Amino acid sequence: MNGRRTFGALEAGGTKFVCAIGTGPDDLSAIERVPTANPASTLERAAAFFRAALGRGEPVAAVGIAAFGPIETRRGQPGYGRLLATPKPGWTGADVVGPIAAAIGLPVGLDTDVVGAALGEGRWGAARGLDAFVYVTVGTGIGGGAIVDGRVVPGVPHAEMGHQSVARQPGDTFAGVCPFHGDCLEGLASGPAIAARTGRPAEALSGSVLAGAVELEAAYLADGLRNIVYTISPQRIVLGGGVVAMPGLIERVRERLRDSLGGYPGTPELGADDFVAPAALGAMAGVLGAIVLAERAALEAGLSPPGGP
Ligand code: ZN
Repeated sequence: MNGRRTFGALEAGGTKFVCAIGTGPDDLSAIERVPTANPASTLERAAAFFRAALGRGEPVAAVGIAAFGPIETRRGQPGYGRLLATPKPGWTGADVVGPIAAAIGLPVGLDTDVVGAALGEGRWGAARGLDAFVYVTVGTGIGGGAIVDGRVVPGVPHAEMGHQSVARQPGDTFAGVCPFHGDCLEGLASGPAIAARTGRPAEALSGSVLAGAVELEAAYLADGLRNIVYTISPQRIVLGGGVVAMPGLIERVRERLRDSLGGYPGTPELGADDFVAPAALGAMAGVLGAIVLAERAALEAGLSPPGGP
């Protein structure tokens, strides 16, 4: 035995589950994507993936799960590992940890997909070397994960930054798409909000419709980021998710955020271009984050890190 140790990673997303084995961006293998169907069949396919890896002799030390939410992430709480009030039909109350843990008999780490992506960006991506940063994803929903002093900011069970209130832009009468709040940030600025406003998904917009959508999107996101700046005071905000790829959006968010902060409190870092940075890990952020969660679960279980003694 050569002492090699690896991890299992599961990004449990609302549209697909991505399973992989590995230790980082340069060492990811056996990637398998499973469409998110009903909980029982989807989790069984994910469990079968990890059982098969163990059957091949992969030296998996732990599995990390970065899951869509809201989900009870506090170990020891009743309902640990179960989805909370998710709008995804059939998934409220579903246990995403139990079936995986039962199938493999190894430590399992769990957090949200956005916290997972934040950990991945902190280790290998756009927030490397920083102590305090926030990862915000803008896609089907809007969510954020905060890392302070290198630790995930804990919550009850976790932050829901996408559901903050933002000031309405002048003339905007759109009701918003959040089933819980209507016109929260997610309700006004998520991918489904853009599609409901314009009749087309963000990636299909062009010309003046695209320009108008980018301007409105930048205004709402800048407002949301200002709230994050003033409450968490991060060294950087990393933006990920499909909507952030809209041409010119990130540059416009930077400008609108600078305007919105109005030079207060006057620290130069907040005005720097890299204060708002695009995510570097792209579509693999969730899976890579799940690897970090697996590492943490292995450490908590008293297993030494890979390459360690
Ligand atoms: Zn909401």
